[in-house]
Amino acid sequence: MRILLKLENLSVHYGAIEALKNLSLEVHKGEIVSLIGPNGAGKTTTLRTISGLEKKTSGNILLLGEDLSKVSSSAIVRKGISHIPEGRRVFPKMTVEENLELGAITRKDKIQVQKDFEKAYLLFPRLRERKHQIAGTLSGGEQQMLAIARGLLSKPQLLILDEPSMGLAPIIVHEIFEIIKNINEEGTTILLVEQNANLALKISKRSY
Ligand code: ATP
Repeated sequence: MRILLKLENLSVHYGAIEALKNLSLEVHKGEIVSLIGPNGAGKTTTLRTISGLEKKTSGNILLLGEDLSKVSSSAIVRKGISHIPEGRRVFPKMTVEENLELGAITRKDKIQVQKDFEKAYLLFPRLRERKHQIAGTLSGGEQQMLAIARGLLSKPQLLILDEPSMGLAPIIVHEIFEIIKNINEEGTTILLVEQNANLALKISKRSY
């Protein structure tokens, strides 16, 4: 067992509001770990703090033992953490392909990027069919697929997913969770926040 990500007594405040108090957790290499909790429990805050989008008040965030607290959010992406936010944020005026290209923007290994494009299209055949379509016109499920595929193109060690099932029809949710399982089986570690606890527990190795 190798610890990829470790949170130690993490606390985060928004002004006077204590959003997170002394959270500790571990994500081991190769696992799917889920965070489950009621609205307002601080799940999104946890993910945003890992990605460097919120500042911690105290505690530690360690990626393979390295402290991330002074690392910028863009450098955190380069270190191998890719965060798919809640609400499928794609660039709506750009095509599917242009969105995917942005996912690979930090990479210099252009030949491998081409291969990873191919992999993404194998994983999400619907995106290949629609590669010239404007992303804002995709269905909700397709936009979620695009957001995940774009996240994968940075070739992350750790893929962070914030409520991938949100607002999607059950059949699409099922499809997306199958894909998440496949991504994990191909070697990407996953940290997942999910309202649908049943579904999350089904695919997770461990949950908090
Ligand atoms: P949900 O399941 O509803 O998405 P969550 O567990 O992801 O909830 P967070 O979004 O992390 O919870 O919010 C934790 C707490 O911090 C909540 O009380 C929320 O109102 C508060 N909070 C979140 N973002 C901010 C902000 N930018 N400014 C002030 N308070 C915030």
